[in-house]
Amino acid sequence: MSFRISPVWWPVLAVASPVIIPWVLVRNRHFQEDRTRATETNQDRMDWAEPFEIPELDFLELTVLVEWKAEEGFIGDAGVSYLFKTDLGSMLFDVGFGATRPALTHNASRLGFTLDQVEALTISHLHSDHMGGIPAQRSRQVTVPDELMSPELKPCFLPDRAEAKGFKAELVERPQLLTAGIASTGPLARSLFLFGYTEEQALLARVKDKGLVVFTGCGHPTIDVILEMVRRLSNEPLYAVGGGLHFPVTGGRGNRAGIQFQMMIGTGKPPWQWIIDEDLSRAITAISRANPKRVYLSGHDTCDHALDRMMRELNAETEVLKAGATYRF
Ligand SMILES: [Zn+2]
Ligand SMILES: [Zn+2]
Repeated sequence: MSFRISPVWWPVLAVASPVIIPWVLVRNRHFQEDRTRATETNQDRMDWAEPFEIPELDFLELTVLVEWKAEEGFIGDAGVSYLFKTDLGSMLFDVGFGATRPALTHNASRLGFTLDQVEALTISHLHSDHMGGIPAQRSRQVTVPDELMSPELKPCFLPDRAEAKGFKAELVERPQLLTAGIASTGPLARSLFLFGYTEEQALLARVKDKGLVVFTGCGHPTIDVILEMVRRLSNEPLYAVGGGLHFPVTGGRGNRAGIQFQMMIGTGKPPWQWIIDEDLSRAITAISRANPKRVYLSGHDTCDHALDRMMRELNAETEVLKAGATYRF
C-alpha cells in the first residue's frame, strides 16, 4: 500500500495538529471559494471567446527538452520543457525546474539548444516544474539557466502576473496569437488546495491538411475545460492533443522524503481526497468526444497506470512523450 505521507511523518503531524488543523480549515474555506470563482471565471471567458484567425502552418515540430520519460542519453524529470518550431518561427514552452535540477541544461546542451534559437518563451503556469524551480515559484520569477540565455531581450508570455529574469514579461489575458503562428487559449483557472487560485494557458496551432494541435503544461484547468475553450476559438477539426493532464492516480512523480506531493497538490481536490479512476474516465471521455487523431501523453504529472489506461482506451494514436525526441505534425 502506498501512503501519500509516509508513516514516518505521522507522529510529527500528530504533534503539530493543533497548528495544522486550524490552518487546513482556513485553507479549505479559501479553496472552496476559489473553486466557485474559477468555474465562474472560466465560464465568462468562454462566453466572451470568439473564433479568431489562427495562421495555417505548413508544419509544426516539437522537440522535447524535459519530460519524465527520456530517450537514451537524456535525463528524465518531473517537469516540462517543449521546443516548438513552425514555418513561421519557434517558441520555447516552459523551462522545467530550470537550473535547480540537471535535466534542462543537460538535455538542451545535447540538442545544441539555446534561447537564441527562439523568438519567445511561453510559460503555461506558475509552478516550479514549469517556471524554473521552487525558488522561481516562491519569488514569482521565471528563471532560466544562464547557459541557455540569449543576450537579446525576448518576450515571455505569462498566464498570470509574474516577472521573468532577462525577458520582457507579457501578460496574456485572453486568447491571442503569441509567436511562430502559435496561439494561447488565454488563462483558464483552477482552484488548487495548497497553491490557491491558479491560472494556466495552453497552446493552440493549426496545421495545413491536419487541423488543430493543442498542448498543455500540467492541464490543471482540466482537459474538458481546455478543449471546450479550443472549440470556442476555432471550428477546425482537432488533430492532436498533448502535454500534462495531471493524473497521479496510483502514485506521484518526483516524490520527496516519503511525501507524494503530486497526489496532494495540484489535483483540484482537498488533500484528503484522491484522484480516482472515475476522474480519469471523465478525461478520457472528454478527449474521445473531441476526437483527435493523435494524443501525446506527458508522464511528468501522470502515473503509469493512468498512461496505460489512456493508451488502451483512447481511440487515437497515442504515445508517451520522451525528452530528446522530436515529433512532427
Ligand atoms: Zn507540471
Ligand atoms: Zn502545475
